[in-house]
Amino acid sequence: GSSDLHAEVLVLGAGPGGYTAAFRAADLGKKVVLVERYPSLGGVCLNVGCIPSKALLHAAKVITEAEEMAEHGISFGKPQIDIEKLTAWKEKDVVGKLTGGLSGLAKQRNVTVVNGRGEFTNPNQIAVTSADGKVTTVSFDYAIIAAGSQATKMPGLAPEHQNDPRILDSTSALALEGIPKRMLVVGGGIIGLEMGTVYDAFGAKVSVVELSDGLIPGCDRDLVRPLHKRMEKRFEKIMLKTKVSKLEPKKDGIHVTFEGEQAVEPQVYDKVLVAIGRRPNGKNIGADKAGVFVNEYGFIPVDKQMRTNVPHIFAIGDIVGQPMLAHKAVHEGKVAAEVIDGHKVEFQALAIPSVAYTDPEVAWAGVSETDAKAKGIEIEKASFPWVASGRALSIARTEGMTKLIMEKDTRRIIGAGIVGPNAGELLAEAVLAIEMGADAEDIGLTIHAHPTLSETVCFAAEMAEGTITDLL
Ligand code: FAD
Repeated sequence: GSSDLHAEVLVLGAGPGGYTAAFRAADLGKKVVLVERYPSLGGVCLNVGCIPSKALLHAAKVITEAEEMAEHGISFGKPQIDIEKLTAWKEKDVVGKLTGGLSGLAKQRNVTVVNGRGEFTNPNQIAVTSADGKVTTVSFDYAIIAAGSQATKMPGLAPEHQNDPRILDSTSALALEGIPKRMLVVGGGIIGLEMGTVYDAFGAKVSVVELSDGLIPGCDRDLVRPLHKRMEKRFEKIMLKTKVSKLEPKKDGIHVTFEGEQAVEPQVYDKVLVAIGRRPNGKNIGADKAGVFVNEYGFIPVDKQMRTNVPHIFAIGDIVGQPMLAHKAVHEGKVAAEVIDGHKVEFQALAIPSVAYTDPEVAWAGVSETDAKAKGIEIEKASFPWVASGRALSIARTEGMTKLIMEKDTRRIIGAGIVGPNAGELLAEAVLAIEMGADAEDIGLTIHAHPTLSETVCFAAEMAEGTITDLL
């Protein structure tokens, strides 16, 4: 049948993956239609993820730094937190500027944005239903699925409690509707710990319960230890190898029962943040009508060119698998658009950086010690402790550590991990080293400004080379 619109490249979902793919395809001369169910572009990352969380973490950092400076002779009063003003800044000046900017960029490139929920109707057509029920059909030559993911709901929660406003997910936690006195974070992964950091700084008594044997599962333990130590000091309680066995919203609060190695007696919290992972949106897009295979979890498998089992349909971002990170989605989006334009490219990152923007930050990329052990890769490592960094001392944050992982014999950098303030920024140098095949000597011979935290990367490399002179 006939369609309302035709696209050479149809992109479903306007998150970091989707808008990047759409913009790149348009820049390559394609006629692009971008479908998004929400009025604001930018997906999870810009609206309810990376960006607003970093705005709140900045506010949290200002508070904790001011608090901790008291020990070194500078005291301020108790912070006065104007939630309305803070929220307005986050929504209007931070998120609004970025999402508004995206709309402008889409217009400049003649990318047609169709607002509404898209579902494939056949392998070359999608139907988009807008909020008022109007259906627009778009036929396409190629499609890129970038429909992202959503927070996993707490299992076993009675249906009548699903919408209890005191049970938060990351989106409602970011909305910052009041600061609870006592808050439980279910899940000790990056998102839970970042939000825990925010609420702790704002005055809530925060507890964390994590099923596995450590915070940030999957990250090397030596990198997590300084964060764990600091959180243990600041937070009310951290329970590992423990799960929530019962969650009962009552008048006086959320009653929580724990089960496991470090379980405490049943507790009552004002709010509970559920941060137990994210689920891909593969099951909500009519993929079967297009013949696109979606696995049991909702992920869409793709090859290195981001192609699904249907040759003219591609998929990128959170919906294709881990790690669920914005910068991964962005790079995959470029690959998909370029492959459609006939370029011989594929997604072949040697390292995708992961960063927890907690305090301290934890950042890692490439081969970790944990990976090396599991896969039997022979490595050498060098860890530089920040107690020996002049800059770390002068900012009173000596708990940090910078670790380089090298291939045995060649001493090529194949992985890196950093914990400490600004670890996320500092990691970039190591990621570049990995991609460029640099070895420890290359980094050691590169002059780093003194005194900076970036020197710790150089010092770790010098340790590996046996040329370090100023380790205390
Ligand atoms: P998404 O951003 O999920 O976008 C998908 C879009 O598709 C959405 O806008 C959705 O509305 C739309 N959509 C879905 N289905 C349909 C449909 N049927 N019809 C129309 N539209 C549809 N990552 C980082 O790299 N760094 C961080 O610091 C970071 N912090 C985070 C903090 C939080 C609290 C959360 C929740 C996530 C964070 N992430 C972070 C993860 C990051 O947000 C995601 O990896 C990223 O947004 C994935 O991009 P995407 O393009 O795959 O999909």
